[in-house]
Amino acid sequence: MSYFRATAPDVFLTVLRRRAPDICRRDLLFRWEAAVRRVEQAEFAPLENMWGQTDDRRIQLADNIPVRCMLPTLLHEAMHFLVYQRRVTRSSVWKELGADEEHDVMERIDDRLIFMY
Ligand SMILES: [Zn+2]
Repeated sequence: MSYFRATAPDVFLTVLRRRAPDICRRDLLFRWEAAVRRVEQAEFAPLENMWGQTDDRRIQLADNIPVRCMLPTLLHEAMHFLVYQRRVTRSSVWKELGADEEHDVMERIDDRLIFMY
C-alpha cells in the first residue's frame, strides 16, 4: 500500500491534467482508509463476465475467480472511488472520477491492474 500512496497522487495528477490542466494536489481527496476497508470487507458473489466490481462502499469478487487474479482485482477495485476531485456544486464539493480516468491511472501504475490472465 505504501507504494500506491507514494505513486498514485502524481499519476492521478498526470492523467487529470489532460482534462483539467490547472488541477493540483489540494484539488484531490484520497480516501485511503475507505479503500482499505473495502478490501478488508470484500466478499464473493456470483458475478458474470467480470472478476470484480465495486461501488464506493463494497467490493465483490466473482466466486469463480482464479487465485492468481485475486490480488490484482482487489487492488483494481480499491483504486476505483479512491480519489475525489474538488468540484463545487450545489450538492457536493468532492466528485468521484470517471472509470476511464481511473483505468488510465491503473494502467500507468502497473498494467497488471488492467490486464489479468
Ligand atoms: Zn475497473
